[in-house]
Amino acid sequence: MTTSRALFDLDSTYARDVPALSLPWPAVTAPDPRLLVLNEDLAAELGADPAVLREPAGVSLLVGNNLPDGVTTTALVYAGHQWGVYKPQLGDGRALLLGEVVDVHGRRRDLHLKGTGPTPFARGFDGMAAVGPMLREYLMGEAMHALGIPTTRALAVVTTGAEIERDRPLPGAVLCRVAASHLRVGTVQYAAASGDHTVLRALADHAIARHFPDAAHADQPYLELFRRVVDAQAALVARWMLVGFVHGVMSTDNTTISGETIDYGPCAFMDAVDPATVFSSLDTTGRYAYGRQPSILQWNLARLGESLLPLLGGDGADAVEEVLASYPAAYERYWAAGMAAKLGLSTPDPALSTDLMALLHDQHVDFTTFFRVLAAGTARDHFLDREAFDAWAARREALLPADRAAVATEMNRVNPVYIPRNHLTDAALEAAEQGDLTPFHRLLDAVSSPFDERPDLEEYGKPAPAGAHPHVTFCGT
Ligand code: AMP
Ligand code: MG
Repeated sequence: MTTSRALFDLDSTYARDVPALSLPWPAVTAPDPRLLVLNEDLAAELGADPAVLREPAGVSLLVGNNLPDGVTTTALVYAGHQWGVYKPQLGDGRALLLGEVVDVHGRRRDLHLKGTGPTPFARGFDGMAAVGPMLREYLMGEAMHALGIPTTRALAVVTTGAEIERDRPLPGAVLCRVAASHLRVGTVQYAAASGDHTVLRALADHAIARHFPDAAHADQPYLELFRRVVDAQAALVARWMLVGFVHGVMSTDNTTISGETIDYGPCAFMDAVDPATVFSSLDTTGRYAYGRQPSILQWNLARLGESLLPLLGGDGADAVEEVLASYPAAYERYWAAGMAAKLGLSTPDPALSTDLMALLHDQHVDFTTFFRVLAAGTARDHFLDREAFDAWAARREALLPADRAAVATEMNRVNPVYIPRNHLTDAALEAAEQGDLTPFHRLLDAVSSPFDERPDLEEYGKPAPAGAHPHVTFCGT
């Protein structure tokens, strides 16, 4: 017991600041917990000794069992619009907050356990998670982190020894997720809908103190909070767009206040450019398609703005509208600046970037590969319509700085070679399910250093072979 205490100094400012939004709840007992993957770098960043985490008491803590004295797991409550439909009570149906840790850099991080059994918010679902989807979340989070994109990360995946029912019996697992916080737009929606403005205010104060402390000194701190979230999220979704990431389920409960990417379910990286790309079998209307992500985010942020209205006073609605109206330009700025870096330009050229996306779409060019071959000077070979490429390339040439070698080096610093491509991810998870983690670790290794081309990983930098089935993730997560 004391070992676990020494592992992490767990705190719970959220439960103390906003008690109405946490429900103490125990994890089910895992019959035979075994550590499958441990993120040693992240453990060290959290101030924990990986060797101690591997011991029985450590593994037990990672599934929420045999908690040290004074530690209580809690299910967090929230609401949210899923597929545009408001659900007044969601919450952690299968996850528990273990506590908060201040990491070696002084940042407060949540430790959250996913797959710990049903909570009162489970809505009839089983509260369990299968090993495949939890490894998927681990891999995606690490890939995004290595790309420099704000994201929750995985500390560990532990198999529980329980079998869970999906379309076939699957091994159960618990993912230990590390996040700047688990405050979601849906959390604010829930607090607003409760009608108790003291809860809403306490939540907003907690969010400010935790994520945007200097907003407390603004003339209107709650409006400033809204502004900061809008800005952080605009920056985030631009980053997604710049690497071809499709989240898949941009419900308001999957939009964070911190500006981190959260909840990797039916998500994936686009291969050939197509704004209509979706990966979720549930997304039949393309609501969360690649090209719609920036506008869906604005819709989600509008839900945040309206939830904050009770704190904003008389002209709050106008102020919220004004902030929302500034979002498209803010997004465009982030995107255009990111595209400039990808293209090796010192100044953004939005028209050149937009025209490129249309050209890549028209010519079915692999998004990730394009920027690397552009830096290498061999992009032309990837187009059927070479004149169309030449015309675009001439416009870019005219804008390039003189030192071309430096341009290529800079481009290769921001354009990945390795992303968790769908066919590689699927193969790695399938092997893992059969007990072979070698492909998983190899892919994890590749995507953890995404900009460094390595000869031994050649096949990891290539798009799916022609004729491969289009990838779809089913939501049986
Ligand atoms: P997600 O798609 O992971 O963001 O989940 C959406 C909501 O459904 C969250 O509130 C989850 O906690 C809940 N949920 C998802 N899967 C399960 C499950 N197997 N059992 C209970 N709740 C779940
Ligand atoms: Mg979610």
